[in-house]
Amino acid sequence: MVTVLKNLDRQGQSFIPTHCSYCGMQCGMNIRIDDTSGKVVGVEPRYEWPVNQGRLCPKGVTAYQQVDHQDRILRPLIKKNGKFVESSWEEAYDLIEKRFKEIQSTYGKDALGVYGGVSMTTEKCYLVGKYARVALGTKHIDYNGRYCMSSAAGGFNATLGMDRGSTLPWPDLMHSDCFFLAGSNSAECHPTSITWFWRGRDRGAKLIVADPRETPTARIADVHLDLRSGTDSALANGIMHLLIKEGYTDNDYIEKRVNNFEELKRMVERFTPEFTSEITGVDKEKIIKAARIYGQAEKSVVMFARGVEQQRKGVDNVACYTNLALVRGQIGKFASGVATFTGQGNGQGGREHGQKADLLPGYRKLTDPEAVKYVSKVWGIDPSEMPGPGVSAYEMLDSINQGTVRGMHVICSNPVVSSPNSQHVTRSMEKLDFLVVNDFFLSETAELADVVLPCTTWAEDEGTTTNTEGRVIKINKIVEPRGKSKTDWKIMSEIAERMGRGEFFQYEKSEDIFNELRIASKGGKADYYGITYEKIEKNEGVFWPCPDLDHPGTPYVYEDKFAFPDGKANLRVVDWQEPGEMTSKEYPVILTTGRVVFHYLSGNQTRRIPFLMEQCPEPYAEMHPSLASQYHFSDGEVIELETRRANMKLKVRLTKAIRKDTVFVPYHWGKELAINQLTNPCLDPISRMPEFKVCAVRMRKL
Ligand code: SF4
Repeated sequence: MVTVLKNLDRQGQSFIPTHCSYCGMQCGMNIRIDDTSGKVVGVEPRYEWPVNQGRLCPKGVTAYQQVDHQDRILRPLIKKNGKFVESSWEEAYDLIEKRFKEIQSTYGKDALGVYGGVSMTTEKCYLVGKYARVALGTKHIDYNGRYCMSSAAGGFNATLGMDRGSTLPWPDLMHSDCFFLAGSNSAECHPTSITWFWRGRDRGAKLIVADPRETPTARIADVHLDLRSGTDSALANGIMHLLIKEGYTDNDYIEKRVNNFEELKRMVERFTPEFTSEITGVDKEKIIKAARIYGQAEKSVVMFARGVEQQRKGVDNVACYTNLALVRGQIGKFASGVATFTGQGNGQGGREHGQKADLLPGYRKLTDPEAVKYVSKVWGIDPSEMPGPGVSAYEMLDSINQGTVRGMHVICSNPVVSSPNSQHVTRSMEKLDFLVVNDFFLSETAELADVVLPCTTWAEDEGTTTNTEGRVIKINKIVEPRGKSKTDWKIMSEIAERMGRGEFFQYEKSEDIFNELRIASKGGKADYYGITYEKIEKNEGVFWPCPDLDHPGTPYVYEDKFAFPDGKANLRVVDWQEPGEMTSKEYPVILTTGRVVFHYLSGNQTRRIPFLMEQCPEPYAEMHPSLASQYHFSDGEVIELETRRANMKLKVRLTKAIRKDTVFVPYHWGKELAINQLTNPCLDPISRMPEFKVCAVRMRKL
């Protein structure tokens, strides 16, 4: 039940509690509605919500402007003679049914691909997996979280046995004694999280930041480890070497709860401060200082994000940092542990329930016959009908070139901007026989579509998301769908009907889907069975796993055992490996990419908000003055950047807050402004995450 608040200070306005649509913090906010016009007119933070306690970042305070934005797509669009023409839903569905059926009868079921996203509620993400496998009967399903959270998932699965992005609730962070942030510019990417570090520091806690740039986060650190991009596992192994050598390991915890310690000890022997410094480029005294601070802290947290994960060894990087928390005996304890910052709003919930190429709801595996049998029963299909595992996002997009995938349905995602080697991906998608895109703004991917289906924003439907902590929360419906837009679950259900599979998609409301998901996840690792909408509202969210209705949820995971059969964690013993592309005489500079505080992902939403565009209208090439001087570049000058894949023009932005061998470019723009034209599609062997964070570039004066 939604509590609508009437504010006496603002007669004629109602306030409806919900959460921000953007990053994984999922900050609590009240959306202001004008009672007369029914328009969304503003926002205020929720002071009582435990995660943000009254704070919102620039994206959060302007998110409400999406709802009645002039660029909203309000009717289905069909491309005729190269131009979009508004149509009825019937006409759009007629065309989709005809083309989907033609493609599948000619080329087989798997010739259709589904590409999902995790900015949607968990109900919708769950349904994307079911829609692909039951309505379309294809194995080709993957999603944009492949580019975001997959290496964290792989690293956690390898070490802890389960992929929950945080082992502790974040308000408890203020009681920690040390924060070790690696590859995370949280001050810009998850701005409201910073308060927990500040509150900790008020008690004397220390902050260590590993990042090639002196970001606003690194600027406030006690130690800034300014490592060369792509050397994270070497740095973590170097810190491990010192923790062991200087006696900071918790041997009792290791003995009882951790495997592979002796093997790890042998492997890190050679990661002396000198050797680590040589690989990472970080001064050895800083490495020693960081190891001692981390080693001496009674309660410490290691946290990381895409800087560590978006590499061809992203899984190993995550595992190496997680190893640190394990040997210090920090996981499963108050105000201690390990966590990743979830990039997308529902990056956690959206990856748990079957949107990934190889997974079914509750993290069940498609390769497990028992899992297939169980989920098939919940869905009411025969197990023989369940398609097998497909391929990862980039591989699915690339398979268009081999004619494997001929038609595609993209649901709330913008892969032609967010994929690496994006010119190649754009050319591939142009080859599709038929492309359908659901979106509420015409993204660069939607521009390529044959049919665009107008879906609702987050404010026009209810549902749940799971935030970066693993807390399942409730998104409330604020207003009715605008124009002729429909929610994505409704769209998928109606297409299922057209494909002759409507009987499996009989839902009246979002909660019906959630209740099915609860059963589908029951007994799986991400068990939501004990979570209900009512329980979420009553308890400020519920942490999964929550296996039955009387269960309170699990804010701290791994208190007693890890998620492996023997209950012990597995230290992952991995040596450092070079990035997929090293610098050379021909391409002498390291290119790295990332976010700015004013934009979100591919920018399709934030590039339409005037205040955010005023603050950051275009991408730029950030570099150190000493690097710029070698090329005689000046601040603001337009130069060319070129990798082995493409070239593009960018303005120089000079700053001393970056390594002298590195250039940084934010990635929130499309077409000729997309830095992903240049990035390397080299994939992590386990997570299939592309190496967005490191490639070799050359620069040229124009
Ligand atoms: Fe929204 Fe994230 Fe900003 Fe919070 S920190 S307001 S969730 S974008």
